[in-house]
Amino acid sequence: MSMKIYNTLTKQKEEFVPIEPGKVRMYVCGPTVYNLIHIGNARPMIVFDTVRRYMEHKGLEVNYVSNFTDVDDKIIKKAIEEGVDSSVISERYIAECKKDMAAMNVKPATTHPLATQEIGGMLEMIQTLIDKGHAYAAADGTVYFRTRSFEGYGKLSHKNLDDLQGGNRSLLVSGEDQKEDALDFVLWKPKKDGEPYWEAPWCNGRPGWHIECSVMSKRYLGDEIDIHAGGEDLVFPHHENEIAQSEACNGKTFSRYWMHNAFLNIDNKKMSKSLGNFFTVRDISEKYDLQVLRFFMLSAHYRSPLNFSAELMDAAKNGYERIVTCVDNLKYLMENVTAADMTEAEMALAEESKGYVVKFDEAMDDDFNTADAIAAIFELVKFINTNASANSSKAFLEALKAEVVMLSDICGLIVDKQEDVLDAEIEKLIEERQAAKKEKNFARADEIRDELLAKGIALKDTREGVKIVRL
Ligand code: AMP
Ligand code: ZN
Repeated sequence: MSMKIYNTLTKQKEEFVPIEPGKVRMYVCGPTVYNLIHIGNARPMIVFDTVRRYMEHKGLEVNYVSNFTDVDDKIIKKAIEEGVDSSVISERYIAECKKDMAAMNVKPATTHPLATQEIGGMLEMIQTLIDKGHAYAAADGTVYFRTRSFEGYGKLSHKNLDDLQGGNRSLLVSGEDQKEDALDFVLWKPKKDGEPYWEAPWCNGRPGWHIECSVMSKRYLGDEIDIHAGGEDLVFPHHENEIAQSEACNGKTFSRYWMHNAFLNIDNKKMSKSLGNFFTVRDISEKYDLQVLRFFMLSAHYRSPLNFSAELMDAAKNGYERIVTCVDNLKYLMENVTAADMTEAEMALAEESKGYVVKFDEAMDDDFNTADAIAAIFELVKFINTNASANSSKAFLEALKAEVVMLSDICGLIVDKQEDVLDAEIEKLIEERQAAKKEKNFARADEIRDELLAKGIALKDTREGVKIVRL
């Protein structure tokens, strides 16, 4: 069966056919780095990492690009509050975000470009848009995209220009009255005192928000890409504007498939920094193994809203542990086996178990239905619990374990927890942390804890001493 993806552009599930056979060019809009990420931001990270893992499992080579927005009003505001350069803020939170990603078993992107490192490309694209008549500089040097000059505007969000025209009037803020049209949006804006800026032909200043993704996508993936993804709040205006910029500049279809995850809610409201109704990934890691968070996110289809609650997290914990226990049990049985090779009856059972792998694949092929895919893993677990015993052969137990680990791994769930000896570097760090704590150098102790977290090792201080947990 072929893979189907729901495309926001066509509002339909479509068969996935990559531009270049065997290869996937995928761009996922990343976070603005001015604070620790919350678990709403973690939803697209986990969901699209799982899409990537499944595609890789199917033998596709995925070039996965995800940016960090490191120049933005909120970053500048925080930098002013702390009296530091805005790069101090963005570098700090990029490092923190990467630690959270590693702890959630989200693979690093092939490339993680930064907006501030791509200004040259932005200046070029803006100039091309001006040259082609799709953009203009106003008297104060602000450059606007001439929205009505791009015929397909509104095709992603399925809005028509006249509705937008009415709705957008109220969006006009002071200084924007120099726009030719209320629908035009900013590509470049003049600097303000105390803000970072770059030299440009129109005015010294900084980019608008949307241009960075068009430029980074072009640079790292080419003019035409397979998949562009992000949370559903990005459909309009961010992705609509990206399409306008890229297609007006390059004269080619920007992205074939547009994927959007629904919100992670709390009390049925979007979890967001601005509403203050959020938990950071770090908060959650204090209470739960982050594998439980990952399981929780995947227990719903990515296009369904998901309400966060302690009850659902506890249910996720039980679900995740059911798989881990199954694997632990297989390992225990394997240590005590007497027969090496499968009997005929076991061969037939091993064949039967492949049916659950097929079910898993069918669910994932159907627009990455992770809820059904996890249900297939549970069916496999039940099958294993019924059929694996102290009398089973090693080969049979190994075959079953390989299946359940493989399916969990596609979901990014670590279910085969290695109780191997810690490597020397990690042991050294743990000792150093103990020494730092003794000397009351808590800053260093915390730093080492974070360093270990990035390596997938969590330390929990308990009354019995330090407990080491592999994430
Ligand atoms: P931001 O830093 O706000 O630009 O968000 C980074 C990514 O997280 C974007 O893809 C957003 O759509 C996504 N996002 C933010 N809040 C939520 C939420 N509550 N649920 C799901 N996705 C979210
Ligand atoms: Zn973007």
